[in-house]
Amino acid sequence: MSPYGFAIKTKQFQKYDPTEWMTFYRRGLRYILDLNLKGHKFFEFYTLLLLRRILTDQPIGYVDLRSPAGIGLGALVYNYDGRVFASDEGRMLAEMGDRSFELGHVVDNDYRSLILSDKLVSNIASSLSQCAPECHDCVFESHCGADPVYHHATHGDPLGIKPLSGFCQRQKGVMSTILDLLDNSPEEAAVLRSWSMM
Ligand code: SF4
Repeated sequence: MSPYGFAIKTKQFQKYDPTEWMTFYRRGLRYILDLNLKGHKFFEFYTLLLLRRILTDQPIGYVDLRSPAGIGLGALVYNYDGRVFASDEGRMLAEMGDRSFELGHVVDNDYRSLILSDKLVSNIASSLSQCAPECHDCVFESHCGADPVYHHATHGDPLGIKPLSGFCQRQKGVMSTILDLLDNSPEEAAVLRSWSMM
């Protein structure tokens, strides 16, 4: 669950934290791996995305796992009223009154003016993980992402404070889990490797 829209309005977002989420993730992944080991082909999508990112040179097209961030550069969201956003999460923030990721309007702005808008350039330039504190010497950096919308929503800053970031905690947890399986569990590693080729 992400900190936007109804998840905030209904206070659902506060109902579980990254530690609980990781417990759920590990339990779910274990269950899915067991299904595969019994011969049922089934994959966990976020794990598959990360595996493809880590083990292959195939692009994954997932804007939250990029630095420079993929908002605007990898996707633009056109709202029903003509407003254009850097991402769907940026659109959800605007519904809550925060227009930080609203780039323009379909009538007034062409593609060039949208992707070169000061708002987009500033958010992307301010969130690079390659030079962010904590990220720049993190072993996972080359497989991680910047996710400036999440960090703006939770910390009021596109870079965020990574030691306090739920995104960072989940990324570290998921990637550690995957790499541990790849290193130490040959049967599970074979299943994970097969997902990366899907
Ligand atoms: S896991 Fe955390 S510290 Fe490491 S690159 Fe990702 S966000 Fe940065």
